[in-house]
Amino acid sequence: MKEIEKITHRIGILTSGGDAPGMNAALRAAVRTALEAGAEAVAIREGYRGLVEGGDAFRPMDWDAVGGIMHQGGTVIGTARSEAFRTREGRLQAAQNLVEHGIDCLIVIGGDGSLTAADLLHHEWTGLLAELVEGRRIAAEMAERYPRLALAGIGASIDNDMAGTDMSIGADSALHRIAEAVDGISATAASHQRTFVVEVMGRHCGYLALMSCLSTGADAVLIPEAPPAGDTWTDILPRRLRAGREAGRRDSIVIVAEGAVDSEGRPITAEQVRRVLEEKMAEEVRVTILGHVQRGGAPSAYDRLMGTLLGHAAVREVLTAAPGSEPQLIGVRHNRIIRKALDECVEATRQVTAAVEGNDFNQALELRGSSFSDTIDTVQTLLRSLPHPPSPERRRLRLAVLSSGGPAPGMNTATRAAVRIGLDEGHQMLGVHGGFRGLIDGDIEELGWMSVRGWTTAGGCELGINRTIPRGKDFYAIARTIEDLSIDGLLMIGGWSGFDSALRLTRKREAFPAFEIPIICLPATINNNLPGSELSVGADTALNAIVEAVDKIKQSAVASRRCFVVEVMGRYCGYLALMAGLASGAERVYLNEEGVTIADLEKDVEDLIASFKDGKRLGLMIRNEEANPCYTTQFMVSLFEEEGRGLFDVRQAILGHLQQGGNPSPFDRILATRLAKRSVERLIDEAEAGTAGALAIGLNNGVVEFTELETLRRHVDADLQRPKTQWWMELRPIAQFLAQPGPSGSAKTPA
Ligand code: ATP
Repeated sequence: MKEIEKITHRIGILTSGGDAPGMNAALRAAVRTALEAGAEAVAIREGYRGLVEGGDAFRPMDWDAVGGIMHQGGTVIGTARSEAFRTREGRLQAAQNLVEHGIDCLIVIGGDGSLTAADLLHHEWTGLLAELVEGRRIAAEMAERYPRLALAGIGASIDNDMAGTDMSIGADSALHRIAEAVDGISATAASHQRTFVVEVMGRHCGYLALMSCLSTGADAVLIPEAPPAGDTWTDILPRRLRAGREAGRRDSIVIVAEGAVDSEGRPITAEQVRRVLEEKMAEEVRVTILGHVQRGGAPSAYDRLMGTLLGHAAVREVLTAAPGSEPQLIGVRHNRIIRKALDECVEATRQVTAAVEGNDFNQALELRGSSFSDTIDTVQTLLRSLPHPPSPERRRLRLAVLSSGGPAPGMNTATRAAVRIGLDEGHQMLGVHGGFRGLIDGDIEELGWMSVRGWTTAGGCELGINRTIPRGKDFYAIARTIEDLSIDGLLMIGGWSGFDSALRLTRKREAFPAFEIPIICLPATINNNLPGSELSVGADTALNAIVEAVDKIKQSAVASRRCFVVEVMGRYCGYLALMAGLASGAERVYLNEEGVTIADLEKDVEDLIASFKDGKRLGLMIRNEEANPCYTTQFMVSLFEEEGRGLFDVRQAILGHLQQGGNPSPFDRILATRLAKRSVERLIDEAEAGTAGALAIGLNNGVVEFTELETLRRHVDADLQRPKTQWWMELRPIAQFLAQPGPSGSAKTPA
């Protein structure tokens, strides 16, 4: 990373367009990163309207001004649409205001319109200043002092329609809102055997509709980029829903993006869908338009984290940009923060919109990228009412699915996807009850298409799960089961003990030829401590559970001066602790990876005392459950309480199993489905080719890939049950400095 020059810069930060949960996290990180770097931060309230109006809209921000805002939805500095900024005169006034306030760097957090506007302002900058000088609105020396406007954009829009970034701030939270709503609607729809049409946001972008269909197990989805041919949908849709009912479904849910069209570009509205379904299915159909519910509410853990990382990176960008360099979009690609020329991103976004508006849907899909098209294919398979009939020329394989380890939300989602994709390919799918114990005891049942109905959204593990690791005579029993049931391949969805067990089977292949079948391990554990994948299914749900719990814990302390020590799971892996610390603004995170010394604790006590003396009301320390065997959570609580000597009190909150429970988050549902699909496809390929790979599937740098279990073995610390290298450890410095009391030393507000 480039060093920041030691000149004082003044950075303007504005949020614009529709508000999006997570904007506050970006603002907080941007302000604090700026102050930490010795720059000044100025919030420009009400977006471009404030930029044009000037005056009070420009508010200098100190460290505390952005304390306690991360959990709030919307944007605390306001956003507004501004017609004035669309005009040259409006932008002239905006440039004058920026110069008069001494702002030489600008960070715009908003949707595609806002970022287009930012790009325009940047490109017009020299001309605008010349015009201001000519019109005697600013002095020539002033214009000379600001020859450039360093600019960075952050995509923030629940629609997720900005090209150049995988995710815009707010889209994940919106998916949470939609999933909560559709899960609720499914329950009532199933009770009454009803059909619901749910309209979600997305004028030119079907991201929310498509992902919410994938993550809720809805029956059909209509999106702008993949329209039905003409009015064929009026026949296809009722036919599909009827077939679903005949196959045993009690509820039918159709998700319609607000910008859905047919191949002629004619809008398909939720109301039209309702009328068609009512007429052709002869039953009552209800419409739910989710509207602004999707924007509201607290940001998800992902949006808090991403907002934080993007806000931080945007400030680094403007402070290190070479004179005359082009403005950049700071975004996320493959789970990493990236920068990309803003004008290219704006142009690519414009092209998708133009392709959708011009009915060039192939082009629109191509521009959206291959994973968008893959998701459409996956959704189309999963929402079939019944699988394709098996082809008579193809051998029907018998593939078994089991779960092993602790329960992780998303295991059911993965099992459902695996079963349906296997069945749709014409194979038989077997569910093993109770992990490897079930394989030892032969506790296995054949699963049909409808046996996994409703599993997309269900937490826990319907197949049953435990941590049994086969030993001694168990191998013989498992070999018998595999032979007796003619199992051709095995998919293990689970955690450390599952990976360990699968590896043990493969190491016994010489003694037991029955184990010469393909075996794939799909990482599913809230601890996120498995090798071969940056993320495990279940970790995102656990993180959300922690962040929600911490929000409540913080609120419980309004009337007191209190410090909480919150213990989170993860075993020896600090992923949950660090990410929860970043997403909730904890002062301190204790990880096993870093260890805890008495000197650390002494320093923490000193810091706590200093900041509570300075007026602080709330402290938050997050401790990984295995951070240190001696300095337990209770020990830390007693130490801080004793040393705090009445200045503040201390409470512990051991979050325990609530982190493992709950319905999977949309992200975990999507990840589980993606990984399960690829796993089953690979099992089929291997079994048909007569090979017997022993592999783990994983998501690395945004790519789904397989790694030999034996190779992974070399990349782990077996005693501490975690990978030797963990990608997320590089985020520690950001967490540390964002949580400190601030350069001014004042810390009156919670983090
Ligand atoms: P969302 O995705 O939530 O709609 P957005 O940023 O796309 O967010 P817009 O209403 O399109 O929202 O844009 C926000 C503001 O950005 C506008 O009110 C206007 O002030 C400015 N803006 C947008 N497009 C342009 C443009 N082409 N030229 C100048 N200003 C623009």
